[in-house]
Amino acid sequence: MHKSKIYFVGAGPGDPALITLRGAQLLRQADCVIYDGLVNEVLLEDCRPNCECLCVRKRTGEKPFTQEQINQLLVEKAAQYRTVVRLKGGDPGFFGRTAEEIQTCIQGKIDFEVVPGVTAASAAAAYSGLFLTDRQFSSQVLFVTGQEAPDKNESSIDWDFLAGFRGTIAFYMAMSNLEQIAAALLANGKPADTPAAVIQNASLPHQRLVQASLERIAAVCRQEGMEAPAIVLIGPTAVYREETDWFRRRPLAGRTILIARDEEGTRSLSRRLNELGADVLGLPVLAVRNFARTGAADTALTRLGEFDWVVFTSRRGAEFSLQRLAELGKDARAFGRARIACIGPETARALGEYGLRADFIPTTFTGQALAEELSAKEPPAGKKFLLLRSAVAPDDLPKSLQRQGAVVEEVSIYTVEPAELPARLIEPILERLGRRRIDWILFASSSAVSAFLKFVPKETVLKSGAKIASIGPSTTRRLLEEELPAALEAPVHTLEGLTEALIRYHD
Ligand code: SAH
Repeated sequence: MHKSKIYFVGAGPGDPALITLRGAQLLRQADCVIYDGLVNEVLLEDCRPNCECLCVRKRTGEKPFTQEQINQLLVEKAAQYRTVVRLKGGDPGFFGRTAEEIQTCIQGKIDFEVVPGVTAASAAAAYSGLFLTDRQFSSQVLFVTGQEAPDKNESSIDWDFLAGFRGTIAFYMAMSNLEQIAAALLANGKPADTPAAVIQNASLPHQRLVQASLERIAAVCRQEGMEAPAIVLIGPTAVYREETDWFRRRPLAGRTILIARDEEGTRSLSRRLNELGADVLGLPVLAVRNFARTGAADTALTRLGEFDWVVFTSRRGAEFSLQRLAELGKDARAFGRARIACIGPETARALGEYGLRADFIPTTFTGQALAEELSAKEPPAGKKFLLLRSAVAPDDLPKSLQRQGAVVEEVSIYTVEPAELPARLIEPILERLGRRRIDWILFASSSAVSAFLKFVPKETVLKSGAKIASIGPSTTRRLLEEELPAALEAPVHTLEGLTEALIRYHD
């Protein structure tokens, strides 16, 4: 039997992409993850489905675990599981009480490893275009805890030394004591005009930065409502320069976007928009149900070769059908002489993964366009069509083909229906809408519009000031039926088209 091991892993400062490859690999293998409140929970999405994930330091709500309780939990979980990841914000070695937890391992004869991470000060500097050192101005850096108030009798921080330090000082956990910290440095002789910068939520889409002299920094932070978690940088390099601030120049920086799709779709789009700088909230209003294993689908999939055209109108329809075809022990040859039509590049890509190339893709990615453009190429009269698509797809495509004399067979490969959502997912969204803190709501299908309105009242949307972005005409139509006009409709009806349109949009 293998021995259990506890891996102390640095999660990085916030942006989930800043975890190390080693850290990500261990998260995928973990039987149990014990994580802190500052850890981005997106990182847990890649854990195995049965991995037990426990948060020990909530920032709000329930009482946090004491250090003793955390140590106890480590011992318990190491007895229960083989691979335990103790996931900590930033780097485990910076102000994370890792030493105490490792001592617990030693006492309990539990094996351990430590995986470093990007510490908050390093990310705060990088993501605001500052540098912790600079050949010209600062050749030393100090990492200091701001939790020890300078007026505390037994403070172990040498304020006299800090005041005379000619380099950059990075204070962690300093927001509640900022006034006293600045006063102590000034009282010990640090020049009043020493530059200071405070970076809140470093590396996250809602990162904020304020900059002022040491003398004024506490007042400016109070005025601007700066809060923890934040890093306070003090020293000659803490000077903000617009030209090095790449973070705010990203195309969707500063925008808050709400996505209403199914779970997988929400997650993938959210990652993409995040990378472009947007703050993304997801509400998985739709649930996808795969019908490809039903008798009707199987019958159609074993008769593919009998059709003139097999049509896929969505990525999912293609994926589920071809997955099932493979399960039935068949491959691309099952299509025989049938030709393949599909809507959109994502569907084409899904076909490509099974070695199939569409014979026809319309220039506009709608069912209507497919029918029109295909008939312009060759009359559909008398031809046999098989449509493998969603049960809730609009009927303009089959109707149009039938009108022109085609024989159309339709098989529902999947359906999308309103999901069951717990209140804990809906409430924060309603609250953000209520505070007018959402800039865009994105809809990539008409069914998402209907499902969304089951959870969010129309009036809330109207009053929120959020603009609506639609992927294409049938979604826009559905929105209009609800008297929710779209501020933007993607000229190219794909997720990329929608993203591109958002970037281009200017009021
Ligand atoms: N081990 C962590 C630090 C834990 S102490 C690390 O290496 O980063 C918690 C403090 O870290 C917070 O009070 C704050 O000062 C800082 N911090 C953590 N995440 C931060 C973030 N995203 N932005 C700014 N400061 C952050």
